[in-house]
Amino acid sequence: MARRKKIYEGKAKILYEGPQPGTLVQYFKDDATAFNAEKKATIEGKGVLNNRLSEFFMVGLNQIGVPTHFIERLNMREQLIRAVEIIPLEVIVRNYAAGSMAKRLGLEEGQQLPRPVIEFSYKDDALGDPLVPEEYIVTFGWASQQDLDDIVSLALRVNDFLSGVMYGVGIKLVDFKIEIGRIYEGDYMRLVVADEISPDSCRLWDVKTGQKLDKDVFRRDLGNLTDAYTEVARRLGVMPANVTSTKPTLIN
Ligand code: C5P
Repeated sequence: MARRKKIYEGKAKILYEGPQPGTLVQYFKDDATAFNAEKKATIEGKGVLNNRLSEFFMVGLNQIGVPTHFIERLNMREQLIRAVEIIPLEVIVRNYAAGSMAKRLGLEEGQQLPRPVIEFSYKDDALGDPLVPEEYIVTFGWASQQDLDDIVSLALRVNDFLSGVMYGVGIKLVDFKIEIGRIYEGDYMRLVVADEISPDSCRLWDVKTGQKLDKDVFRRDLGNLTDAYTEVARRLGVMPANVTSTKPTLIN
């Protein structure tokens, strides 16, 4: 069998050439990194959980008319996605102060913000993904003002959807990050939600106990990351049949 072509390898995922033009296969690794890859580990089962959870959120978004790159899940660790041109921004939406915002402004973590706040980081590992104002984004041509308006609308819709879904299972959506891609269809360009939506890219706190069920468990050494993600998957009803037997993966 011919070895398929690797298009890109990131910290937590690999992209392979897809079966049809304009498609890619997105493979979820078990690797976890934090603090711009200063902290690293392999956490067995994480890739399987994120594949399932990202599928769950992307399918839901597609169903309510928020376009995403997601086509279908292929197996435990892989999903078929549309190839997009990624806009080099991390789009962060915050409902409660936490993480870098709490640190930057000296706020107590968990303080509810008067309204959702959207911020942008420029995707550049060497620079540590610096926070950038909208003016930079337009000035340096990463996105137009029209694109930015559309990105903000998309991000707010994703926030309402995710907040509601998580609230329904007793989880508070503190903040999250999405990435946006461009798809070209004839003369038209569409913006879609790309990359992944998973506990790697969200802050999720149990509504009653405040227990962290996201990547902060790894960042802050708070316990077993797979247990936390499994709990999210279980509550959402997307628990894979057997998370522990996830090592063999289909490549090729
Ligand atoms: O660290 P910070 O507070 O800025 O993160 C905000 C949100 O964005 C968190 O949910 C975090 O998991 C997510 N994020 C991410 N990838 C990054 C930076 C932040 O998924 N490179």
